[in-house]
Amino acid sequence: MAKGKIFYKTGEEINAIQKSCEIVSETLALVAEMLKPGITPKVVDAAAEEYIRSKGGLPAFKGYHGFPSTLCFSLNDCVVHGIPNDRPLEPNDVMSVDCGVQLNGYFGDAAYTFAFNDIDEDTKSLMIRTKESLYLGIEQAIIGKRVGDVSYAVFAHTEMKYGYGVVRDLVGHGVGIQLHEAPDVPNYGKRGNGPLLVEGMVIAIEPMINLGKKNVKVLKDGWSIMTTDGKPSAHFEHTVAIGKHKANILSNHEIIESAVKKNEYLVKI
Ligand code: MG
Ligand code: MG
Repeated sequence: MAKGKIFYKTGEEINAIQKSCEIVSETLALVAEMLKPGITPKVVDAAAEEYIRSKGGLPAFKGYHGFPSTLCFSLNDCVVHGIPNDRPLEPNDVMSVDCGVQLNGYFGDAAYTFAFNDIDEDTKSLMIRTKESLYLGIEQAIIGKRVGDVSYAVFAHTEMKYGYGVVRDLVGHGVGIQLHEAPDVPNYGKRGNGPLLVEGMVIAIEPMINLGKKNVKVLKDGWSIMTTDGKPSAHFEHTVAIGKHKANILSNHEIIESAVKKNEYLVKI
């Protein structure tokens, strides 16, 4: 979890973070174009790295505490931090893909969950509700609110309303000068609690929501966070700057979603 002081960003710094986020979003759109049954996560990861470097960016996850890849590619009951491997994707896979980029010293971070057409309705609903919870959280990311207001919005829509499991062990975070900064942005919490949201704060809001129970474990690879009950999980993430009346969403899911729309293998949510 992120520790230390909160870095407050200038307008120029927020613009620089947005440029990193643009590459993140374009990379996830490229992923959305490439996904099809039979392709391997490793091949997708290599293309992502090549794209980021072609734009002058650095893959922020690669080498971070020793993480070996550009993307976190988390399949089915893997919640987050999956390492791209050589197993060809199957027609009923659900895939959460997380990407971070450093450009000119500034970091952007975003994630999207994709699934092929053969997934079941429960998993599709989980994806829809998780994505909705991200935007409900973002609605709270305004000056004068507190981190707990963001957290509660996500929690109320997922665990309280739909009975999903909100992962407690992993949280959103401040982002921009470093990949993970203070404050922590949990997906559970109480309204009116936690750090005050003020101008200049940039946070990654990232609901990680399990279809079944909230409990997770780490695989022997030291990275992959798995649900303990083997049920699937979904993860959507935006980098946002705290705004006066509404948050400024710095990452861009629209270009990812237009790529999803054009990909015949991917479920539309
Ligand atoms: Mg991320
Ligand atoms: Mg993040």
